[in-house]
Amino acid sequence: MQNQILHDLLALSHELGREDRGLAMLGEGNTSARLSGDTFFVKASGTCLGTLKEDDVVRCRFSALLPLLEMEKLTDQEVDGALLAARVDTKGKKPSVEAVFHAWLLSLPGINFVGHTHATSVNQILCSPRAADSSKHLMFPDEIVCCGSSSVLVPYTDTGLKLAQAIRRETEAFLHKQQRAPRVILMQNHGIITMGVTWQSVLSAMLMAEKAAKVFVGAAALGGPVFFSKENIARIDTRPDEAYRQRALKM
Ligand SMILES: [Zn+2]
Repeated sequence: MQNQILHDLLALSHELGREDRGLAMLGEGNTSARLSGDTFFVKASGTCLGTLKEDDVVRCRFSALLPLLEMEKLTDQEVDGALLAARVDTKGKKPSVEAVFHAWLLSLPGINFVGHTHATSVNQILCSPRAADSSKHLMFPDEIVCCGSSSVLVPYTDTGLKLAQAIRRETEAFLHKQQRAPRVILMQNHGIITMGVTWQSVLSAMLMAEKAAKVFVGAAALGGPVFFSKENIARIDTRPDEAYRQRALKM
């Protein structure tokens, strides 16, 4: 089971790190997967998604990282110390600085895999004044099937613990309002997180969000985009053939 999850996590990482996709380059982005009990896998700091290997993945304890979310003032050294102390194998590499938000997202019901990238087209929007527009509106049916009917938007925050706390705050507000976990979290001037039950659902949401961003930028150049109405979205969200497509895509 653990080997299968590691295999799936490496497959997701290699897909997200493909150079031709423009989602993550060099050390950008990270991935994680929930294991049984108190542990999860997360990409090690400074490693490359596209070429991620077994020993670039660290197994960490939820119980060592989740309490950090309650702490107001920790120095960078204290966070580093906590990241190292969270490893199950003390010979393992240092977990990514984003391991805290991975731990929190993986503890939501129905979330087994999480992917984070600095996708080029998504960032064109997230680094523009129209970031909020792209998180609130949808433009075409497959975007709803793969990315859900709305996304979380997180204002720009210093990476690390502060960002993990901001992600928790904005995602909790989303959960309260929508009564379901989001598939997509957009972080202003930074990048995107997708998450789901299977590694394929994380990849599908990431690729579709990147495509939607390209459509948005192109449509904006032509005076748009023309967004879906609430009725359009509600209809697609409840169509039985769309639910069938979601199952076929392992969403
Ligand atoms: Zn990042």
